[in-house]
Amino acid sequence: MITLQDCQTRDAADPLKGMRELFTIPEGVIYLDGNSLGVMPSTAAARAAEVITQEWGVGLIRSWNTAGWFNLPQRLGNQIAPLIGAGKDEVVVTDTTSINLYKVLSAALNIAAQDAPHRRVIVSERNNFPTDLYIAEGLCKERGYTLKLVEPEEVAASLDQDLAVLMLTHVNYRTGAMHDMAAVTAAAHAAGALVVWDLAHSAGAVPVDLTGAKADFSIGCGYKYLNGGPGAPAFVWVNPQHADRFWQPLSGWWGHAAPFAFTPDYQPAPGITRYLCGTQPIVSLSLLECGLDIFAAAERLGGMAALRTKSLALTDLFIALVEQRCAGYGLGLATPRDHAQRGSQVCLTREYTPEGSGAFAIVQALIARGVIGDFRAGDGKAHKDILRFGFTPLYIGFEDVWNSVEHLRQVLESGEWKLPQFNQKHAVT
Ligand SMILES: *Cc1c(COP(=O)(O)O)cnc(C)c1O
Repeated sequence: MITLQDCQTRDAADPLKGMRELFTIPEGVIYLDGNSLGVMPSTAAARAAEVITQEWGVGLIRSWNTAGWFNLPQRLGNQIAPLIGAGKDEVVVTDTTSINLYKVLSAALNIAAQDAPHRRVIVSERNNFPTDLYIAEGLCKERGYTLKLVEPEEVAASLDQDLAVLMLTHVNYRTGAMHDMAAVTAAAHAAGALVVWDLAHSAGAVPVDLTGAKADFSIGCGYKYLNGGPGAPAFVWVNPQHADRFWQPLSGWWGHAAPFAFTPDYQPAPGITRYLCGTQPIVSLSLLECGLDIFAAAERLGGMAALRTKSLALTDLFIALVEQRCAGYGLGLATPRDHAQRGSQVCLTREYTPEGSGAFAIVQALIARGVIGDFRAGDGKAHKDILRFGFTPLYIGFEDVWNSVEHLRQVLESGEWKLPQFNQKHAVT
């Protein structure tokens, strides 16, 4: 039996416990939704005020040079690079994940069209995050490709002679299941295809080695585990062997070799800079830097390896405590138990009944108690819905895990989730 005291002992021995002080987290909140929107770095409010009142208010247009605005996409890209196994000057921070996916998928199709024009299929997972599928669907329509959607266990069998690009999300948003990036990439390459990896639920959550895996293209999100703030810009990485082969279709002036030459024709900048499009949101970029500075501080305490060790300990503990303390309430586990296949979140399931699964209302009741996770509807086929809990080792501790499971137990035992106020849907779930 695991006890509260065991959890407190583990917090006391946690080498990362001081990292929490670098964030502002509301009193009484246990935040298990850092996989959707990370918490606020304590420096963010002052940094926002500085950018607005000094750099904009006083520096005005001079700040493009004097405050380093112009190079922010590259500077932040270099801060993300070590978190994802990318080299220096191989990453830029810009635009959104959806837009960056459009760019890299277009570039991948350009390469495939030249090297293997008979390959006309993009494969992805049916339960990939929808925007990834929508972007791929749009590009397929535009270019006459076919988008084929498979289950995770069918990916290997889909690597055939028709496949141009395999487009996967490394850690699934709904189940927390993680692909073996190196093995899947090697298998796709052996089959003659290119691979695009979406790191939305990986960057800052699990160690990633794009270079070691010989991945082709990658994109990821700034506002989830990187704690960049709502709508923070996303990042994009292209294997240097591909970076100069084609330019991406959103060939705006920020990706030009000499933007201030103002020539009428487009000459792409060398390397990853050509993946920029137009003028970037400087306030948002500046706030993302506050989140990335915290990863630089974590580097001194063991970096992503230490974060991964703690993340697995937190998710193991959560699973064990739910099984120990919430048995008999119809909860299941959607997240793999195998560490090699688990990201930094745990997804519980609840079966459909004629009254619904109750998963949405249980999450609402937890939120009312200050335990913030989220709900994701099941895919219908599985007949269950998902209660999703993200564990960010930078600011979640072992006692937090104990307390969140205790709240979950009380919500289930009391049946308070059946109250009408917990059963009203909102625009954002
Ligand atoms: C969160 C997430 C996105 C978000 O894309 P936006 O363009 O920022 O809205 C995209 N893909 C995946 C896999 C995600 O998890």
